[in-house]
Amino acid sequence: MYPLLGFVLGSSCLLYIGSPLGFGLGSNWLLYIGVPLIIGIWAQIRVTSTFSRWSKVRASGNITGAECAREILQAAQIQDVEVMETNDFLGDHYDPTKKQLHLSSNVYNTPSVAALGISAHECGHAIQHARAYAPLKARMAIVPVTMIASQMLPFIIIGGLFFRISGLITLGIWCYLILLVFQLITLPVEFDASRRAKIILREMGIIQPGEEAVGVNKVLNAAALTYIAAFIAALGNLLWLMSIRDRR
Ligand SMILES: [Zn+2]
Repeated sequence: MYPLLGFVLGSSCLLYIGSPLGFGLGSNWLLYIGVPLIIGIWAQIRVTSTFSRWSKVRASGNITGAECAREILQAAQIQDVEVMETNDFLGDHYDPTKKQLHLSSNVYNTPSVAALGISAHECGHAIQHARAYAPLKARMAIVPVTMIASQMLPFIIIGGLFFRISGLITLGIWCYLILLVFQLITLPVEFDASRRAKIILREMGIIQPGEEAVGVNKVLNAAALTYIAAFIAALGNLLWLMSIRDRR
């Protein structure tokens, strides 16, 4: 659902701790690190609370997230995607490389408004994949280099800031550029999946207009905020590293 927010916030914290030791805080610290960190934490709290609120509201269609996913995939004539249960809380995602749709236990087994919204959103990704939706293909193409950049970043930040190795700061800037491009491509992919989800749930009669539709909108909109927050945080971290480099 919301890739990388936790990771980006983690590296923001590392920058927060490391910067005073290595380079001093300077005037832009609050703007580049502090504000995005607060927005990110707020988005994370909001998505968790919205999900838990609408998890308690049972949808009148009375099918679980797993049943919902299988019905949607069947209606879209997608036969080769496996719907699976995962234990990670809010760990719902579609894996295009294995054609697996992973739903967290709370979504997989529950007939709630929140579960159906998230289940339909992940189906939206499977449909994007089946229909060769261009932004999804672009995102898949840069996943490997994004993985490398994100695995290197903690070491780069620690080495660059704590040990004042300026070459690492430049490398860190490149890593954040990659992350930023990934986050930027993620935005249309996620918004489109949610847009498809809302239409499908309504057209298939899985979600009724009124309170249920409002709940689905709230859950998916709260998730959308986390992608925007992750983008802002990655941008802030990038600008911060650039300002540190220029100061030297
Ligand atoms: Zn998604």
